Parts: sequence; structure tokens; C-alpha cells
Amino acid sequence: MTALSSIRHHPKSLTLAAFAAGALDEARSVVISTHLTLCDECRRAVRDFEAVGSASLEAIDAVPMNESALDSFWARAGRQDRATEATSRMAANDFSLDRTHPLAIHLRDGIDAIEWRQIVPGVAQHIVPAEGYRPGVLRLLKISPGMRIPMHTHGDEELTLILRGAYTDEVGDFARGDLADLDDEVLHAPLATGDEPCICLIATSAPLRFRTIVGRLMQPFIGL
Ligand SMILES: [Zn+2]
Repeated sequence: MTALSSIRHHPKSLTLAAFAAGALDEARSVVISTHLTLCDECRRAVRDFEAVGSASLEAIDAVPMNESALDSFWARAGRQDRATEATSRMAANDFSLDRTHPLAIHLRDGIDAIEWRQIVPGVAQHIVPAEGYRPGVLRLLKISPGMRIPMHTHGDEELTLILRGAYTDEVGDFARGDLADLDDEVLHAPLATGDEPCICLIATSAPLRFRTIVGRLMQPFIGL
């Protein structure tokens, strides 16, 4: 069984549309493209957005829509699909990262070779190099089972993709492949569940806002 059919949480349509339009920053693009290697549904959605986008471009240029252009677009998309599915099967099994995986550019030796830095007991992080408004916009977080991240909201948007393990919060239950696409409306305190540490890939576009004293005390150490 792959993770594909078990995914319950996906990016918002607006986020996928922005990704298809190339409008996301690097950190969020890495998170979304990693989700796409696992999710047929979102891969199809992005392809549709791309098709709509290229059709709009043709309309702007007042060039009549050429059927062979659309055929060749779908032919190209089909080829990409096959290549990505080979990756997704492997990723769903153990998230080993081959050269074509979007995360492989940043984690050449894979998830098991990561040098984690403990923030507080039970929570460790690894900053992934990515361009953004400040260092640390893309990070991996490892949360031990039973550990809860203090209640917080987000200054702007946060994308969290679960790579291993699981967590539960006010939004729902998240497991491997699930993606939380959160904005500043959501107040949550994720609790790592199950037997193995929960490893998440997180892109933040603005600092988190912790609602508790413990959270605010943790913030300088986490750098979130
Ligand atoms: Zn999806």
C-alpha cells in the first residue's frame, strides 16, 4: 500500500494555483512539490491549472487555440506523470530521496542522515537552505511521540507536510503525505501521536505567534 490513497489533507486550491503559476517562494514550492510526488489528486489539479494558464496566455496573445498544441501539452504532461509516479512509489514507502525528488536538492543524504538540533527535549529541528524573507523559512521538525507543540497561530501562512509519523491537532489527524495549509485564522497545538517521531517539512512565510508563556519562551530557541 502506498501513501497515495490515505492522504486526507491537501493544499488549498489557491495554493496549488499559485504553485502552478510559479508564484510561490522557494520554501513553499519545495513543500508543495514534495506533496505532489505523493498525491495523484493534487498533481492532476496542478496540471489543470497549468492548462488553464497556458490557454489564458494564448488568449492574451490573440492566437487561436491550436488543437495540436493541446495534444502535445497533454503528451508532455503524461510523460511527466509517469516519471513522477515512479518517484512517488518510492517516496511513499520510505521517503528515500532519489535525484529527481524536489527535496533531494536540499537533503542529499536523505532523511536518515539529518543532523538534528534539539530545541527542547522531544523537539528537534533542521534548517533546510532556501531563499526567503529570512533564514529558516524551510525547516524539518522532529517531534517525539506524546510531545505537543505549544498553542500558536501563524503570522501569515504555513505549509506543513508530514513525512513520517503522525500528529493530531484542532484541524484533524495528520499522517504521512498529509499537508496542513494554514493561515493566521488557525490556532493549533499539534500533538505527535503513534510510536515513531513525527517528522514534518515546514515552510513559513512569517514568524509564528505563540499564545502561551511556554510557547513564547520556546520561540527564541526554535526560531519559528
Ligand atoms: Zn494532495
